[in-house]
Amino acid sequence: MTSPLVRFAPSPTGYLHIGNARPALFNWLFARRHGGRFLLRYDDTDIARSKVEYADAIAEDLGWLGIEPDQVIKQSERLAIYDAAADRLRGAGRLYACYETADELDRRRKRQLARGLPPIYDRAALKLTDEQKAAFAAEGRKPHWRFLLEPREVAWDDLVRGPSHVDCASLSDPVLVREDGSYLYTLPSVVDDIETGVTHVIRGEDHVTNTAVQAQIFEALGASLPTFGHHNLLTTASGEGLSKRLGHLSLRGLRETGVEALAVATLATLVGTSDAVRPVASLDELAGLVELDHVSRAPAKFDEHELETLSARTLHQLPLAAVEHRLNALGIAAEEAFWQAVRGNLAKLDEAAQWWRVVHGPIEPVIADRDFAVKAAGLLPAAPFDATTWKNWTQAVSAATGARGKALFMPLRQALTGLDHGPELAALLPLIGREKTLKRLAGGSA
Ligand code: GLU
Repeated sequence: MTSPLVRFAPSPTGYLHIGNARPALFNWLFARRHGGRFLLRYDDTDIARSKVEYADAIAEDLGWLGIEPDQVIKQSERLAIYDAAADRLRGAGRLYACYETADELDRRRKRQLARGLPPIYDRAALKLTDEQKAAFAAEGRKPHWRFLLEPREVAWDDLVRGPSHVDCASLSDPVLVREDGSYLYTLPSVVDDIETGVTHVIRGEDHVTNTAVQAQIFEALGASLPTFGHHNLLTTASGEGLSKRLGHLSLRGLRETGVEALAVATLATLVGTSDAVRPVASLDELAGLVELDHVSRAPAKFDEHELETLSARTLHQLPLAAVEHRLNALGIAAEEAFWQAVRGNLAKLDEAAQWWRVVHGPIEPVIADRDFAVKAAGLLPAAPFDATTWKNWTQAVSAATGARGKALFMPLRQALTGLDHGPELAALLPLIGREKTLKRLAGGSA
């Protein structure tokens, strides 16, 4: 494959949620896998609903996921290019003026339905004479503009769904330009895909019909078609669609819960595929696992509990380099031995702070049996401690006291950490060190 160019094209009218992070990720991982580039395009022609703060939030949330666009464009800055394309379509007789009001169209649709006909636009506007149009203009009525569809089947080989087709004879001619001259999404998207040289359009299957319409627009503008792929949509565990109002499934909401971005990316792209969802150590590893033709055609269900579990499992195998900055932000020095000792015990990264405190103190030890603690202190090996110290020490304590299993390990854990559970003491003991261990065995805060 020659180096692909993909794009993610959100409308900045709200925060990204896990559902609309999926096309971003599918595109990004596809570009990574094939040595391509990723364009972030803000579809912000709807000026009433688009907000700069949402555009900024989208870039930030993508950054959290690990997506850094190679190029960023805004449709609101490219209107002249769309005007030129619209003129070209008008010149070719493919874009025609319509004057119906929303009420008129609604009445016609109802009549069609009452007669058992499909509610397709009847193209009445094509029959308007120049005088009729002049009369509308004299009344101050402005036209909206529809694209004249050819009544034929559009077929393509979909990256996800395989051979696909839509019969355009069953569709209404789509409105491309509103009365006020503003553009709906359909035309600017095609114009940008042509102008920027997008090679692969990967998006949700809610766009399948758009693809047929847009394929005809590509052709009417003399351009060849990109390759299309339409992935399934995500629903909640109970099968409802995700809406922008579901704040806790927004990427920022998930980030606040402390869930791992890599787990979000993994679940978002592997859920509902024929491949098992398993933790990965990097987006590059994930890029090697995500196969578009393995994505199921049925909707994928998003389960928050599954995400939590995957997040913990992801954390357990992350290399230090992947968490270094975040550990530093928690006031933890990023040290290999510490990370190796605690990572397997974390559900959320910020819990590492608790173990940092256990290692460096001060903590309040729990001493259930003073005699036992004194005996154990007397048997503590000499410094420096290493990975074998714990085993040697506990064997000696067991031999001297007769304690085994929980009766041996629990009082030592409680003395050393003040807690009943936690990471392997064999790994923690060398980090705590001999001096603090002795103080804690003596019941002192250290
Ligand atoms: N702005 C469109 C959307 O968010 C983009 C769809 C596309 O990828 O073409 O649905």
